[in-house]
Amino acid sequence: MSSMISRNFFLFLSQNKFAKKKAMKWGPKLGAKQVIAGETIQEAMETVKKLNEYGLVCTVDHLGEFVYSREEATASANHCIKALEAMEGAGVDCNLSLKLTSLGLDVDRNLCRDNMVRILETAKKYNNFVRIDMEDYTHLEATLELLHELRQSYDNVGTAIQAYLYRSESDVRRLKGVNLRLIKGAYKESPEVAMQKQAEVDRNYLNMIKVHLLNGSYAAIATHDHRVIAEIKAFTIENGIPKDQFEFQMLYGFRTEMQKEIAREGYKMRIYVPFGEDWYGYYMRRLAERPQNVRFAIKGLLSK
Ligand code: FAD
Repeated sequence: MSSMISRNFFLFLSQNKFAKKKAMKWGPKLGAKQVIAGETIQEAMETVKKLNEYGLVCTVDHLGEFVYSREEATASANHCIKALEAMEGAGVDCNLSLKLTSLGLDVDRNLCRDNMVRILETAKKYNNFVRIDMEDYTHLEATLELLHELRQSYDNVGTAIQAYLYRSESDVRRLKGVNLRLIKGAYKESPEVAMQKQAEVDRNYLNMIKVHLLNGSYAAIATHDHRVIAEIKAFTIENGIPKDQFEFQMLYGFRTEMQKEIAREGYKMRIYVPFGEDWYGYYMRRLAERPQNVRFAIKGLLSK
């Protein structure tokens, strides 16, 4: 019950502009720097290099979402292109994650598509891959439509599907052959569209992962849940699913020992490395997911 209240509280804060303005001043003090790899692409590349040395591959995300002007959307796309160029220049094992709202999905869908085309052309040039993060339910249909359109011309793009949505198993089946990140889901959604009980979400999550793997499709299993990871390891062995048909993913700064252990076992382990100045919404969602994450904030406030 109390964890439900704190989840709702932090999800509320994640979209509250007044709280955001106040919190941005306190950024590092709130502990955000433990889970965000700095504000610049150079800082992010330093982090990625270190993670690569441990055998961990990465995906970087230039933080930003819910952009409302054409200029901001174009600037955000330019950041993504610079990030791809920086990865190529640094010779790191890393791809790109992004949010369509940061590229103008709510401003003008054509602009958003054009931004994606510019990014995918750059990624193609460098033989790299771009993952579209999945945002809240109001953006799901538009995200899947744009993905479908982009995949007519590009195969280096995939998205993420959230297990808490009732419709997701059928989306996973429909997206056979697409590189999908499979997740439980991070936003507050209504009971009309999303399961509210954790046990139900967990069941659907395992089911979705198995459906996609048995379909012969590539799955990025993005979770910190050791029970899910253990079950998927056993499932892939039992079903003869090769290690190059899937990867595990975790967020930068979470379960870092387990990340290294999974890589040492010979599995591909990808770390989601967020960077940039607009860290607020991302950080609030992390606090919402797991009340224990608040210790980052408390530690930060207590540190000098
Ligand atoms: P949880 O359900 O949070 O935890 C399950 C259990 O695992 C816990 O009870 C605990 O026993 C253990 N555990 C979890 N975390 C820890 C920890 N830090 N330390 C110790 N034990 C722990 N969501 C979206 O909606 N869209 C996206 O595009 C998206 N992309 C993501 C990308 C990545 C790489 C990851 C890892 C997550 C992403 N998410 C995204 C968030 C995701 O939807 C979940 O909200 C988030 O991962 C929390 O769920 P979980 O599966 O990690 O496990």
